This record gives sequence, structure tokens and C-alpha cells, in this order.
Amino acid sequence: VSSVVRYAVSPLFETVVKGDYCIGCGACASLPGSPITMELDARGLYAPKVTDDHLDAPDGFDVASVCPFAAPVDEDDLAEAAYGDAPHHHAHVGRYQALFAGYVVEEPYRERGSSGGLTSWVLTRLLEEGHVDGVIHVVEGAGDPLFRFSASMNVPEVLRGAKSRYYPVELSQVIDHVRANPGRYALVGVPCFVKAARLLARHDPQVGAALTHYLAIFCGHLKTTAFAESLAWQMGIQPGSLTSIDFRVKLAGRPAYAYGVRVTGRERQEVELPMAELFGGDWGHGLFKPRACDFCDDIAGEAADAAFGDAWLPEYQADGRGTNIVVVRHPVLRSLLARGVRDGSLHLDAIGVEQVFLSQAGNFRHRREGLSVRLAALERVNAWHPPKRVRAASAASVSPRRRRLYELRSTLSAVSHEAFLEAKRIGDFEHFRSRMAPLMRQYDRIREPMWRRVARRLRRLLWRRGKR
Ligand SMILES: Cc1cc2nc3c(=O)[nH]c(=O)nc-3n(C[C@H](O)[C@H](O)[C@H](O)COP(=O)(O)OP(=O)(O)OC[C@H]3O[C@@H](n4cnc5c(N)ncnc54)[C@H](O)[C@@H]3O)c2cc1C
Ligand code: SF4
Ligand code: SF4
Repeated sequence: VSSVVRYAVSPLFETVVKGDYCIGCGACASLPGSPITMELDARGLYAPKVTDDHLDAPDGFDVASVCPFAAPVDEDDLAEAAYGDAPHHHAHVGRYQALFAGYVVEEPYRERGSSGGLTSWVLTRLLEEGHVDGVIHVVEGAGDPLFRFSASMNVPEVLRGAKSRYYPVELSQVIDHVRANPGRYALVGVPCFVKAARLLARHDPQVGAALTHYLAIFCGHLKTTAFAESLAWQMGIQPGSLTSIDFRVKLAGRPAYAYGVRVTGRERQEVELPMAELFGGDWGHGLFKPRACDFCDDIAGEAADAAFGDAWLPEYQADGRGTNIVVVRHPVLRSLLARGVRDGSLHLDAIGVEQVFLSQAGNFRHRREGLSVRLAALERVNAWHPPKRVRAASAASVSPRRRRLYELRSTLSAVSHEAFLEAKRIGDFEHFRSRMAPLMRQYDRIREPMWRRVARRLRRLLWRRGKR
């Protein structure tokens, strides 16, 4: 594509952008000489903008070919091309060589990481062993936005980029950097970004040569910048004054899922609170979720050499220091991890695919069964939707209760964007809370019926009495 100077942008804008299916990855803006730039929209999500509409050349290269929500190539096609000889396949996890749960023993990876620290450890080993010259991942930005994709060229830089950033980022600037600084890079991204990077690599030989390794982190959904702002606002930092946020602070003596959030603002020193005490911190409610995430069917980064998630399993989550689940697809990554176990750097348990599934069961339901319900609703009115591996649900295949849950989740996300904008306009967080709370209560009632809530409270009461 590097010799192509004319781009067709209308097909992408008329479908993905117009329908609000864009995740803001920036792949369409990363093509050489693309007429598209990425800008944060009012909600706090990157959106593509055409800088010069004369550059919409209907006979030019269709930028939709690199879009994870428009390209005719899906995750199965990409995985088939890259890992066609992987011995195992699972409908939700994709192709794989081996599956593990574990953590890094060698300091300071586990302490610095969100889960077991394996992602950063693998990245540094790829660098140290000379597989790559640099790592493309998400680091703290210098101000606004708070995070950005960047190329780290040594171990301290890679370590500084550890932790999960529930925050929008885009690829075009770092891809420009890679073009200007040729070399071999490992890229880390949530699954749709890995797909976008692989599509770019297919169409742009320079990017194809530069991106030699792809790592994914499991993904439930992304958040707009409003998520960070709303958490900080509750901790006394006004929107616009937040200077840094750590979404995954490990709290001593607490289970891994009971993590904290730490924020710093211009007018206030560091504040830290458990995520569970903050309004909007329950991921099931899906506040500030981009609509694109409701039309995504890849949780396990199926087009990546290895994917790393949280081991949300009873046997691991009690340990607040954090444990990863790992899906290994590429033999190079498999032997790198095996060497790590042999030299005492890693602790890894082999696990079954059903454990990987169980660790994300709710997520998989929402993005397979839930997606089939959302697709059916669009197909009923003949509306365009991104090409998906999941088929639209038939009327009888999903219970009315689950349909209602899926619908409410989409409503919660959609209302959260506008309610937070209103709250910012009038300068009152309570406005946001009072608009969202009734919907959240309605959702909670359906998620956990009355008899189950009563049984849970009774169990807790009896347990407390027993302790006394
Ligand atoms: C938006 C989002 C949603 C997630 N949802 C789930 C989920 O539902 N289930 C689950 O099991 N795990 C989920 N994760 C992954 C999980 O939070 C951990 O990141 C993962 O387990 C890796 O932990 P680690 O300790 O190995 O990584 P670390 O050693 O902490 O390294 C993390 C690496 O990922 C990079 N990174 C962080 N954020 C981003 C980003 N937004 N885009 C690209 N690269 C990034 C960092 O720069 C760093 O290199 C999510 C992560 C994100 C960012
Ligand atoms: S999802 Fe990515 S490639 Fe598709 S329109 Fe949005 S920014 Fe462009
Ligand atoms: S849920 Fe899917 S579309 Fe949304 S950020 Fe995660 S990988 Fe991308």
C-alpha cells in the first residue's frame, strides 16, 4: 500500500463510524499518507476525522481493509494464517499450544504488574534475548491524554509501562514512529488492536516487517476517558485536573479482585480507595463502555502469539499479589516460558481450557450469546453491523431474562456517556449518580433475583454469627 496515495474513506465512515462501531484504534489513520487523523471526541474516545475530504478517492485503497470492525478478514482467518499448526482449538479461546495459570517469581514483575506480571516479563525477555529491538505498549503520557502507545527500547522503560490502562489509546502516532525508526518490535494490545495491527501489517509491508511479535491482554471492554475522570472526581479531583491514575493497585491481604485505584490531581495529592467503594467500578454495569465493545467477539486475543489475562478462578484469586492466565499460540513464546520455569523466574501451572473459559465466563456469555441478541435486533430492522463470527439469535434461543440483561447493559453504557457529560456541564457528580442509579438497580435485580439475594444475605449473616 505504500505506493498508494489515494484512499477511499466513505465506505468506512458510512458504516463503522456512522454506526458508532469505531473503537478508535487508529489503524485507518496509520496507513502511509492517510487523510485520517485521530481526535478524542466529547465522550472521551478516539474518533477518526478526515482531514481533507477531497482525498476520498472512490477508486483508491479502501481504508476499511485495516479496520477491525469492517475488514472481511476475521480472527479465525488471522489465527489460521499464523498458528494453523497449533494442536488445539476452542470455540471461545481460539487456537493454542498450551495454557497456564501463574506468575513471575523474579522481582519486580509481579509487584509492578496488574496480574502476575507475565506480560512485562515476556516483553523484557524478548528484548534481552534479542528477538526484538523494541516493545510497543501503553505508557503514561505527559499530561493529557494520560496514556498513549509508545515504543520502549530497554527493560526499565518496559517495566515503567506495566499495569492495565482502562483508557483510550490509538496506534497512528506510534506507527509513524516505527516507520521513522525501523527495527523489530513486539506489540501489546487488547484483542481488537492486535487484529488492527495484523491487518495493517498485511497491507503495509513496512509495518509487516517491523511487527514481529504480537501479544494480547484479555479484554472485557474498554473505557472512555470519563471512567478515569469519574473515579477521580469521587476522590476529590475535579474533571480536567487529574494528572495520573493507577487503575490496579494491589491491596495487601485482600483477594486479587479487590484491587484499589490511586489518583493524583493538580490540586490534590495522591488519593487511594478500593475500586468496589467507587460508583461505576462494577465492570458488569459497563459504564463508559464504547458501543464497539458490544460488537466484539474476541476476548482471548485470538490473533496474538500469546494472550495474558487475570486468573479469576477460586483457586487463584484469593492471592492478592495477582495471577495470570496465559494462552500460548506461538512455539517461540512456549519455549521462552518453559525456560523461565526452568531457571526459576516463573511459576506456571498447566491448566485446562475449561478453566480459561470459566475465568471469563460472564464475559464470554455477553460477547457470544449477548452479541447474537444484539445482532438479531439490528438484522430485524435491516441495519448494517460489523461482520461477525457470531450469528444473530433466533427468538427462542435466549431466555427473556437474559435478553433483558443484555439490553439493559447496552442502555447503561449509552446513558452513562451522556449523563456524565451533563454532570460535567453542571459541575455536579451527584447528577451522574442519580441518573445512573435507578438503571443500575434495575439491572442488579435482574442479574440476581430476589430469592438469591435473600439467600446470599442469610448466608453472610449466619457466617458472621458463627464467627462471633
Ligand atoms: C481495557 C482492558 C480490559 C481488560 N479486561 C480484562 C478482562 O475482562 N479479563 C481479564 O482476565 N483481563 C483483562 N484485562 C487484562 C488484565 O487487566 C491484565 O492486563 C493482564 O492480565 C496482564 O497482566 P500482567 O500483570 O501480565 O501485565 P503487566 O505486566 O501489568 O503488563 C501489562 C502490559 O499491557 C500494556 N497495556 C496496558 N493497558 C493497555 C491497553 N489499554 N492497550 C494496550 N496495551 C496495554 C502495558 O503497557 C504493559 O506492557 C484487561 C486489560 C485492559 C487494558
Ligand atoms: S475502529 Fe480503528 S480502523 Fe476502524 S474506523 Fe475506528 S479508528 Fe479506524
Ligand atoms: S472489548 Fe473488544 S472491541 Fe472493546 S476494547 Fe476490548 S477487544 Fe476492543
